[in-house]
Amino acid sequence: MTKLPDAMTDAELRPIASKVYEGRPINGPDALRLLATCSIADLGRLASHVRRGLHGDAAYYGVSMNLNFTNICELRCPLCAFARDEGQPGAYLLTQTDMERRIKKAAAAGVDEVHIVGGLHPDLSLSYFEELLSSVKRLAPRMFITAFTAVEIDYFARKEGVSTEEALARLIKAGLGAMPGGGAEIFAPRVRKVIAPKKISGTRWLEIMRMAHEAGLKTNATMLYNHIEKPADIVDHLSRLRSLQAETGGFKAFVPLAYHDGNTAVKARRRVPTGFDELRLYATARVFLHNIPHIKALWMYVGEKMAQLLLNFGVDDFSGTYSGERVVHAAGAATADRGSETYLRALIENAGFRPVRVNASYERTGRRA
Ligand code: SF4
Repeated sequence: MTKLPDAMTDAELRPIASKVYEGRPINGPDALRLLATCSIADLGRLASHVRRGLHGDAAYYGVSMNLNFTNICELRCPLCAFARDEGQPGAYLLTQTDMERRIKKAAAAGVDEVHIVGGLHPDLSLSYFEELLSSVKRLAPRMFITAFTAVEIDYFARKEGVSTEEALARLIKAGLGAMPGGGAEIFAPRVRKVIAPKKISGTRWLEIMRMAHEAGLKTNATMLYNHIEKPADIVDHLSRLRSLQAETGGFKAFVPLAYHDGNTAVKARRRVPTGFDELRLYATARVFLHNIPHIKALWMYVGEKMAQLLLNFGVDDFSGTYSGERVVHAAGAATADRGSETYLRALIENAGFRPVRVNASYERTGRRA
């Protein structure tokens, strides 16, 4: 059988392939080279080697719902199309009754998991969120709860006047099962100052993730690209995630998010990233983040066909059914905000992979798992 390094037609990539083949981490300059390569087939071979070594032909997906409880947010980040000021047209705060109705309906339909995130609403306290999580558990005891970005946790703790550790402990007691990876954006302060000047720093985001991991929560980590970041900022972001993961092991998935600039104050580099941009980014992340088990593509962001293609470029998690998503669609994502389980499974199978239904902790769920 041909060894992976020998299979590389691009001689520049062979030293990187040798490292990957021998199970050694690649370094920052290697990642920069992968992010710029035009040898897309070689890049796919490299990323697939890592992906198939970890997961074989499995492609994970979830059956989940979104609860974006409010779009009223104090920060009003320039990158955000979702947030509104209180009283502004389009501003909303879901009532307790409305949220309970949605949870009951989803539980009855066999949904495994709820994703709860929202704006930083000045009137909502930590006890409000404890009660929200408890009510989900009361209404749907088997529903897995993935909730609150590090930005929200920081805000809840400061408003309540308690330590971040205490806020996390209280939310875990109320039913929090895992955290999504939002709010990471790009860690580089130069870029963050422009796209989200009032948001917690990248260093603080990582600090909160460390505390969450120490408290026993698994989390995701996101990265927003296709705005004003440079390739070096991407590599810096990946490096800082990889370093924290080496200490805590708490990140379960890395989730790149392409920036959409509809209704925002920051222009996207490209209205829609090119296919090559997406393939390079996901494949480089798969190879560089050797210690983070899953690379997730949100099909709703990248589109069905690109998500299928990405399964051959390092991605093993196809994301979920996501009924009710409002954040990315506020910025103009043209894709559907839902997809039946049958449809997602067919997309995965048609791409030559084996669909595996899981919750946010990658525990298999449902009879079809
Ligand atoms: S990105 Fe998050 S924190 Fe920033 S304005 Fe939007 S909802 Fe608020």
